[in-house]
Amino acid sequence: MSAQQTIHVGGEWRTAASGSAREILDPADATVMAVVAEGGVEDADAAIAAARAAFDQGEWPRTPVAERAGLLRRVADLLQRNREALGLLESRDAGKTVEEGRIDVDCVRDAFRYFADLVMNESGGRVVDAGSDDIHSVVVHEPVGVCALITPWNYPLLQASWKIAPALAAGNTFVIKPSEITPLATVELIQLLEEAGLPAGVANIVTGAGASVGARLAEHPDVDLVSFTGGLASGTKVMRAAADSVKKVALELGGKNPNVVFADACESDEGFDTAVDQALNAAFIHSGQVCSAGSRLIIEESLRERFVGELARRAENIRLGRGTEAGVECGPLVSQQQLAKTEGYVASALAEGAVLRAGGRRPEGDGYEGYFYRPTVLDQCHRGMRVVREEVFGPVLTVETFRTEDEAVALANDTEYGLAGAVWTADAGRARRVAGRLRHGTVWINDFHPYLPQAEWGGFGKSGIGRELGPAGLAEYREAKHIYQNLAPRPVRWFAG
Ligand code: NAD
Repeated sequence: MSAQQTIHVGGEWRTAASGSAREILDPADATVMAVVAEGGVEDADAAIAAARAAFDQGEWPRTPVAERAGLLRRVADLLQRNREALGLLESRDAGKTVEEGRIDVDCVRDAFRYFADLVMNESGGRVVDAGSDDIHSVVVHEPVGVCALITPWNYPLLQASWKIAPALAAGNTFVIKPSEITPLATVELIQLLEEAGLPAGVANIVTGAGASVGARLAEHPDVDLVSFTGGLASGTKVMRAAADSVKKVALELGGKNPNVVFADACESDEGFDTAVDQALNAAFIHSGQVCSAGSRLIIEESLRERFVGELARRAENIRLGRGTEAGVECGPLVSQQQLAKTEGYVASALAEGAVLRAGGRRPEGDGYEGYFYRPTVLDQCHRGMRVVREEVFGPVLTVETFRTEDEAVALANDTEYGLAGAVWTADAGRARRVAGRLRHGTVWINDFHPYLPQAEWGGFGKSGIGRELGPAGLAEYREAKHIYQNLAPRPVRWFAG
């Protein structure tokens, strides 16, 4: 097995210092689709040194903002040019449909364009009135320094872009470590940054494992900021590792996201159809491997039977298959490990009294050699069940019911996470009341899943620290500096002598 050169350090593509390699599996059939370099601590150290040198001595942090924005726009154009190839690669690597892969590439392109515009608009600093004509006081923004960017396997390119675009816009240098399961499209993205003209050493990538490369990036004293997207368990390790060097930490972690449906949203046939359709989409898009998946359906008791019956019927009709095949609606789970985890949660839910209304099994027959699992609806669930409290990150939807608005809000907030949630109602007053009371970073009213690059994304509680996208997503990558200039210096005479 000879590895491709997927480690990029100081402008050079290399294999791992140790010579190790890793096979990347196609989740649709568990065959090897690529072999990448399996970097280790030595590679992480080399990449950090390159990023450090590029920050301390290189031109990028001092490049005029208009040029930095121009580079981001060129990257966006290259993404547009490579849309089909990248969308296909992301689809095969992460197991999503090709159409989802294409949409991801569009969103990545839009993130680069957004941060190019934002940094141009927010480059001026702020003059502060110091109360005297003799004082000129201004707050400016500078890059943080060397950024370690660690990303998960479900939206590899998209999560990378939410970090890379603002980091570069602000003038930082970085080392990215993509998920060891799905590194392929991120390697391509680094090649596009190079093609767009980014100076050597600004963008570095080390493919490798979390416990070695990721942990090293989080602890290394020459890294100024670590931005991590992934699970809660790894996120807390990253935060601990970053503590000794007091680096800035941004965490985008998991979610256990409520989708609250009031009966009044379903009074018309059209309303009912929309709410059911969107509940399916909320829970099962990308086989539920979405941090903001609407994996908890919290429904008004009077509507339960009709709604869950229709939902289960449609869930059984979802067409599974390889993401590149026409007509396929859901791909496989990303790995054997994720499949086993999902099966474990369903088994524990059934043992705890949940009622299976759809799925609960692997599909049978040819074409399902990979990590496929049928979209699963579990009725009669309650807070005591592990499947209701913990993030499954698979195609599993639990159903809980409420009678009053207060009960609905209490259930929706009864989670240690707080990433996203939705409320479905025809009553505008109720919609705003409930949205105001939900302790989640994003609240949708009569919708599920859309996000905007202009709007902050992130979580309350154990869903994370900090925000990506929006102005706050750029602020993560900048330090504020107050420059106070005395135009008429005089002695203070505090000390008599
Ligand atoms: P994960 O935590 O297993 O891995 C995420 C990344 O962290 C990978 O690159 C991994 O190699 C690395 N890593 C693992 N251990 C590490 C350590 N000790 N130190 C440093 N890095 C380490 O997560 P995953 O399974 O790849 O992704 C799924 C998780 O990501 C889910 O919990 C999901 O909710 C979350 N997620 C959150 C968002 C968000 O925006 N909040 C978006 C996407 C995914």
